[in-house]
Amino acid sequence: VTPEVRIVEVGPRDGFQMERAFIPTALKVSTVDAITAAGAAKLEVTSFVSPKVIPQMADAAEVMAAVVRRPGVTHVALVPNTQGARRAIAAGADVVKQVICVTETYNRRNVGLSVMQSMATLTDIVAAAGDRATVEVVVALAFGCPLEGVVTEDRVMSFVDELVASGIREISIADSVGVAHPRQVASMMRRLQHAYPDRTFSLHLHDTRGLGLVNVLAAMGEGIRIFDASIGGLGGCPVVPGASGNIATEDLVNLCEEMGVTTGIDLDRLIEATRPVQAFLGRQLPSRVLAAGTRARWFASRSGAGDGD
Ligand code: ZN
Repeated sequence: VTPEVRIVEVGPRDGFQMERAFIPTALKVSTVDAITAAGAAKLEVTSFVSPKVIPQMADAAEVMAAVVRRPGVTHVALVPNTQGARRAIAAGADVVKQVICVTETYNRRNVGLSVMQSMATLTDIVAAAGDRATVEVVVALAFGCPLEGVVTEDRVMSFVDELVASGIREISIADSVGVAHPRQVASMMRRLQHAYPDRTFSLHLHDTRGLGLVNVLAAMGEGIRIFDASIGGLGGCPVVPGASGNIATEDLVNLCEEMGVTTGIDLDRLIEATRPVQAFLGRQLPSRVLAAGTRARWFASRSGAGDGD
């Protein structure tokens, strides 16, 4: 049965890469395995970037090669270039994903390339992947940029035009810094789907200003069915002070469950998958449901308490 909402777990990539303390390879692998055992069907396992840029991802090939393969589970790797794509595919990635920023100045800062050069890299990655892996693209800073401010819909549309021309079928629209609001999200996603009914659009949201889950609801209202989320709400943004992480997977699964929308993910098992990471990091992670527990467990704990509330 295909879940009504498909969650792409990005904690092991977007979340872990923000952590300073090196997370042991064995913990990375066991976390990915626990997440897929909980029912996640697609996840960003790691990122094949230079260890000089992100030391946390130095064990990318090891992690990708070690995770348990389950039928129907798609393992995604982020890659900055063809070399990364080749390494990722050799290690067993099913999907290689490139991040390109909509804004010129930030793309240069992020990867040292103009947007046009990044598009050329994309063409190379598509060629390198051939039929061994699917290529997806993240449109980063689609709702706002730390350097250029507000990003207009028109700008995102012409950016997506180029991706579509490159043959990309699944495109992730990312509010990388957490500035999007529900009306903006609804309008953007409506327009994209209307322009490209044969492409798949997903959303990558950060909860920087507490609008993560309401933005999900706004997008669901427009028929969007794929959302990135991160266990525990791990993640952040290096250039936004006080930025919180991605929307938490536990909170998103909980939202869906309470509304009767299937995700294919077992919430109790997902919470158990997050706990060892929280213990290793030694701090309470932002996910509300991780902290409070599920509603079902809360009610179960109340029954028989006899205090009549
Ligand atoms: Zn992100």
